[in-house]
Amino acid sequence: MSDCIFCKIVAGKIPSEKVYEDESLLAFMDIGPVQPGHVLLIPKKHYERFTELPEDLAAALGRKLPALSRAVVAAAKADGFNLFQTNGACSGQVVPHVHIHIIPRHEGDGYSFRWVAGKYAPGELQTWRAKIAAALKA
Ligand code: AMP
Ligand code: ZN
Repeated sequence: MSDCIFCKIVAGKIPSEKVYEDESLLAFMDIGPVQPGHVLLIPKKHYERFTELPEDLAAALGRKLPALSRAVVAAAKADGFNLFQTNGACSGQVVPHVHIHIIPRHEGDGYSFRWVAGKYAPGELQTWRAKIAAALKA
């Protein structure tokens, strides 16, 4: 994708502060951090949404997350961290190239990912379970 900012980072056409690289993955510092130490992990190949990833690439991303998250937490002396991932503009995705946010968190840092928990009507939970289980088999 010639106009994708993360593809340009992978190609070295725009600068980035890289923290990890292998044949299929790249991790670099987010320039607009939610908290200092915020890192992005991406596949080098362009895919817009997580749902488009081949399983082996999704597995490679997942395999790297524990060590990368440990490094972010250690460097930031964080109390915890968030893994965050957006798919589609409605979810907050601004850069249409798969990326996983690794965000160090400290007690009292004031940042909030809280949402208002909804409630199912009687039977609705089971209907959703069946719908999703059926979609998984399709
Ligand atoms: P999202 O809203 O999930 O699409 O997140 C996109 C992220 O990419 C934001 O956190 C931006 O700060 C970050 N970002 C955008 N451009 C760059 C860049 N050139 N280098 C590093 N991070 C970037
Ligand atoms: Zn791209």
